[in-house]
Amino acid sequence: SQSLYALIEASFPTDSGRLAIEVPDRSVGRSSWTFAELGVDVARTASLLAGLGLKKGDRVAVQAEKSPEALLLYLACLRGGYVFLPMNTAYRLDEVDYLVGNAEPSLIVCDPAREEETRAIAERYGTVHVLTLDAEGQGSFAEDIAKPRDVVPAAACESADLAAILYTSGTTGKPKGAMLSHGNLASNGLALREAWRFTRDDVLLHALPIFHAHGLFVACHCALLSGARMIWLGKFDRAEVLRHLPRASVFMGVPTFYVRLLDGADFNAQVVAHMRLFTSGSAPLLAETFDEFKTRTGMAILERYGMTETGMNTSNPYDGERRAGTVGFPLPGVDVRVVSDEGRELPRGEVGGLQVRGPNVFGGYWRMPEKTAEEFAEGGWFKTGDVAKIDEDGYVHLVGRAKDLIISGGYNVYPKEIETLIDEMPEVDESAVVGVAHRDFGEAGVAVIVLRKGRMLDEATLIARLKDAIANYKVPKRAYFVETLPRNTMGKVQKNLLRETYRDACR
Ligand code: ATP
Ligand code: MG
Repeated sequence: SQSLYALIEASFPTDSGRLAIEVPDRSVGRSSWTFAELGVDVARTASLLAGLGLKKGDRVAVQAEKSPEALLLYLACLRGGYVFLPMNTAYRLDEVDYLVGNAEPSLIVCDPAREEETRAIAERYGTVHVLTLDAEGQGSFAEDIAKPRDVVPAAACESADLAAILYTSGTTGKPKGAMLSHGNLASNGLALREAWRFTRDDVLLHALPIFHAHGLFVACHCALLSGARMIWLGKFDRAEVLRHLPRASVFMGVPTFYVRLLDGADFNAQVVAHMRLFTSGSAPLLAETFDEFKTRTGMAILERYGMTETGMNTSNPYDGERRAGTVGFPLPGVDVRVVSDEGRELPRGEVGGLQVRGPNVFGGYWRMPEKTAEEFAEGGWFKTGDVAKIDEDGYVHLVGRAKDLIISGGYNVYPKEIETLIDEMPEVDESAVVGVAHRDFGEAGVAVIVLRKGRMLDEATLIARLKDAIANYKVPKRAYFVETLPRNTMGKVQKNLLRETYRDACR
């Protein structure tokens, strides 16, 4: 067993003068790292952390804008045996306060603009060290790195050792800290490298945030474990992505990235001529987006499915048919099954709770032993909370989240089925169906709809059309038309907010 960082370093090209990271949009600070330079900087950063007195297993909490220096910090934690704990940049101070109190980090790295408030939080919970880091790589962290120091040896890490605590997106409740080991991350990174055919000739255009599993683990591990180069963008910016795509070979996105790329004729086959792979995940990719992308570029987006607690579980095939509306097959080493409410495994084609098992599955939620016990079934199966079916050909179809399931008059209604029908209407851009309290049926669906520009549709027409298409109990009782659906940074529709907004719609 090996630490993840040892594995990463062993994957660096022998010609270590090759570029690992290129940062095109930097006005100050460093704009590229070769693999050799990356190795040196990771060692220096790990030595800085050791110099602060950090011990193996200590947490390093980071709330900083995306930068290669923040990635260095992550890699330094892997090398030193410290536990990396990234925080969403959108978290407000009370959320940071909660997480710091919960995780008790030895070091917090924050944006210079928030130093004072962060120091106050640090003091409250006995965190000794606070350093600052901004999007350009500037701050006291960078100043400390620049000082001369002796390099300490890498920590000996076993695969069971904790590498990171990543908080879930909080789509269904309060974010939970998932404890991920070196072995969890390494096994998943290697599985993806194989499944998606990464080589050192790849150039990954990186536009995702790095406080989440998608941008930090899926994207960076694929590149680092294959010695590929990353073109590093601070955020998704359509014009910037279009500018750099012609030099890239792989792009990873959340569905909203693809919707935005397609929003203009300048995204076309010519721009993607050099690309071999586009992947999508974190939220459902609409079949419409998949189809439009194919028409425009001739390429099929590869959709995959994962979660903070497990890394990636399933993926559409690299070779072979990528099916819109599905998340493909289990990755090598990962088992998936669909079970009934009683926990009985269901045959193919039947809808039930999706469970996963494998070396990718986390050890538990940080300081939540009861919650952890609840979410595991006998035999090491993790209950994902997603509702799914596996079709005759073995493709996994996600139907929705168990928490979003609507039980109306005793019947199960899967919002996705209704949303798909609504989205197919020519007037509709997108929709979300949520369950709210209903005076007769216990619960009923409410449809929240975004119309296409310049199109009209009224509630009565929409409901009448649905009544012609599906059983009455599935038809939403009310429909509301809005400008946009509430989404978080990963493009996930925040159904909890919609349920709150429309809670009294059917009372
Ligand atoms: P929380 O667990 O705090 O409620 P979350 O589940 O949204 O938040 P993440 O771990 O970031 O937090 O997201 C994992 C979830 O994202 C999965 O359980 C699944 O519902 C959804 N997801 C991921 N990939 C896909 C995909 N390709 N299609 C549909 N849903 C996806
Ligand atoms: Mg979740």
